[in-house]
Amino acid sequence: MVIECQKPDCNHRLKGPKSMIGQRVRCGACSFEFIWAERYYEADSFVVYDLETTGLSPEADELIQIAAVRYRGGRLEPEDSFFSFARPRFPIPSFIESYTGIRNAHVREAPRPGEVLCRFSSWAGGDTLIAHNGKRFDGKFLEATCRRHHLESREIECIDSITLSKMLFGKARGTGHCLDLMKSRLGISDTALRRHDARGDVDLLGRAITEMQRRLDLDNSLNGVLRHSTRLPIVS
Ligand SMILES: [Zn+2]
Repeated sequence: MVIECQKPDCNHRLKGPKSMIGQRVRCGACSFEFIWAERYYEADSFVVYDLETTGLSPEADELIQIAAVRYRGGRLEPEDSFFSFARPRFPIPSFIESYTGIRNAHVREAPRPGEVLCRFSSWAGGDTLIAHNGKRFDGKFLEATCRRHHLESREIECIDSITLSKMLFGKARGTGHCLDLMKSRLGISDTALRRHDARGDVDLLGRAITEMQRRLDLDNSLNGVLRHSTRLPIVS
């Protein structure tokens, strides 16, 4: 593939294999350093989020909790965060209550999942979302929730933090990328919050992303990291 030097007036072209994506390179003409990518983004504001649900099926199960924190310029901004419980149509199964610590009593007064997503969408704005296993799980849940509640929706870009983990630790078979393995590989301390509660998982994930960005030497727009998309409700 051929890419153009990212320094504003330098039009030098660099040629290399696709495996260069995500690597830091230096322009041969002007010595400018940048990340090799297929497409370049300028925004440096992201939303790290996590969902808890009544089960694994985006079609049949429902959202019961969402937590998120802004990640801007390569730093977490804990003062800019989002949290809500959501009340599903049916009771939370008891094994989910014990796994997540989220009990039916916690969600009794909470808004419905559709309304929670509208609030989340409004808070998130146009920022790119980041979730762990978000491509296969959280992103699918957001889309399915929009559909089920007949919410008019918009496309929003996402990064799956498993992609970052694979860039850093390799894709070899048997290299797990679950949050617990990442935490121990990255030497991240335990969260003071409960695990499998979205707040605890987002705290851990946010710190893992910060550390992975630093170790991968990525820029603050996370250029070179593959993106996918999901949908969030349109809010006026
Ligand atoms: Zn250049």
